[in-house]
Amino acid sequence: MTMSRRAFLRAAVGSAAALAATDSALGRSSWPPTGQAWRPAYLQLEEEGRFEERIDQAYAILERCRLCPRRCGVNRLVGETGLCRTAERAVVFSAQPHFGEELPLVGDRGSGTIFFSNCNLRCVFCQNWPIAHEGRGQPLEVEALADVMLQLQRIGCHNVNLVTPTHVMPQILQATRLAAQNGLRIPLCYNTGGYDALEAIELLDGVVDIYLPDLKFMDADQAERYMGARDYPETAQAAIEEMHRQVGEMVTNLGGIAQRGVMIRHLVMPNHVANTRAFVHWVAETLTTSTYVNIMSQYRVEHRAFEHPDIARAITTEEYLEAMDWADEAGLTNLDERSVMQRDLFRRRG
Ligand code: SF4
Repeated sequence: MTMSRRAFLRAAVGSAAALAATDSALGRSSWPPTGQAWRPAYLQLEEEGRFEERIDQAYAILERCRLCPRRCGVNRLVGETGLCRTAERAVVFSAQPHFGEELPLVGDRGSGTIFFSNCNLRCVFCQNWPIAHEGRGQPLEVEALADVMLQLQRIGCHNVNLVTPTHVMPQILQATRLAAQNGLRIPLCYNTGGYDALEAIELLDGVVDIYLPDLKFMDADQAERYMGARDYPETAQAAIEEMHRQVGEMVTNLGGIAQRGVMIRHLVMPNHVANTRAFVHWVAETLTTSTYVNIMSQYRVEHRAFEHPDIARAITTEEYLEAMDWADEAGLTNLDERSVMQRDLFRRRG
């Protein structure tokens, strides 16, 4: 039986409406709202003629670098480097579709990750230390970085996922503008360790669609001991509040792919050093109980973690289950699907 064009459209709209109803019944929001076409934030900024000014403001920060809370004060535009060991050009380790990220980012075609080398944190337990601490990678001009973004879109990735972007934010802005002028239309995801200056995050307002920050530590003593950043907890919290103000909670399209919003990661660590209980309560009380949260279980002893007795082992099943119980206690309702599966697996194993 053939279907008329009108009947086909009616059926398609009906299916979409049914899916939307299912989403709504499950407490999920879909994006964009019915009847509106999704567009990346950066496109609007470009159309309003405000993108170039934003890039100039960002590059001006590099002259006496205070791009992150380290505030090194070096002039990166003439080749000086601070703690992140990066001068003017961004260094890229790799770019590829990645299927290990959160499911709303991965979909069926992968998240288009660009791994930037170097970092403004000095985590003794860094899981990517050859990239983040040793700076392995290739310096790229912004034109080449824009091409990488476009290539990730061309091969079908659902988003451009900027991993460890904090110390190269101006370069990312300029590359994004170039890529947008040449057809980039997928969401921009800012995948940060969380040690971001408020001033820098404010410059991203209207550019970034999805924020994917870590909130690693809640206590100054632990942040100083394990990452050399005593002010990390309050700094990361202020940055995440600003991210949440800009883009709100995570929303997906009808296919379940993230389009916009904040998704927070927190790594459970041995002996409660990350203070997961304080983390989940902070999210519930400062943001919302329906904020997307990924409580991660994959801590492993890497880099110099073996020098610190409290973190020189993997976490136990009990520690992970306790962390997930605290998330329930805090009333969090939007936990990462794989973290829930991990919890259920641990529970079944007893
Ligand atoms: S971005 Fe790098 S140079 Fe600039 S303040 Fe941070 S660590 Fe220092």
